[in-house]
Amino acid sequence: MIHIFPCLSDNYGFLLHDPISRLTASIDSPDATEIDKQCTDHGYTLTHIFNTHHHFDHVGGNLELKQKHGLTIIGPKDDEARIPGIDVTYADGDIFKFGQFDIHMIATPGHTKGHCAYYIPKLASAFVGDTLFALGCGRLFEGSAAQMFDSIGKLRALPDATKIYCAHEYTLANGAFALSVDPHNEDLQAYMETAKDLRAQGQATIPTNIAREKSANPFVRAKNALEFATLRQAKDNF
Ligand code: ZN
Ligand code: FE
Repeated sequence: MIHIFPCLSDNYGFLLHDPISRLTASIDSPDATEIDKQCTDHGYTLTHIFNTHHHFDHVGGNLELKQKHGLTIIGPKDDEARIPGIDVTYADGDIFKFGQFDIHMIATPGHTKGHCAYYIPKLASAFVGDTLFALGCGRLFEGSAAQMFDSIGKLRALPDATKIYCAHEYTLANGAFALSVDPHNEDLQAYMETAKDLRAQGQATIPTNIAREKSANPFVRAKNALEFATLRQAKDNF
């Protein structure tokens, strides 16, 4: 069971709860107070944090939540040194148990060099941090465009129905850029209308899914690393 809630200015917090084992993970820790409140509201005890990368809006609540709950912090091996309070690391392709769920760690370098995603086949869901956004992708702070192209390719290869939980609400701004480079894409046009309606009602556009991003997201549709790099640079200057 997955719960999504807004945090900070444009982040999302996520809780992953297994009702059988009663384990509960927060995906990243953008806001310790809000994460605690959400757990209390649902009657959950927070047992884990799964970190996607080391940026402050993703690890900022780690130590406070760990101190309060004595929880276990899981993260990517490649970012071990930069994730506060980290207890357990996994690498690309590792699968670990979380109650009834198998969780696949997928290394997705590009936004940061240690960035990872968490894929849960049983829930047809993936937490992708700042790698893939609805109609966009993360900025290249540490990795190359070729790395990010490969990382997005790994997510693109997930089943079409996979729900994609992105860590920020950037859909309308991303969509404005997407329409500027792909103005006649009817799937993109329709998706933007839906996203505008959702935002006008104060609702999240997240999760998106792989099928939709394949049809509407220019970064997912890029044919090669060069095309991807050109798009990413154009978006940085948009
Ligand atoms: Zn980030
Ligand atoms: Fe972020």
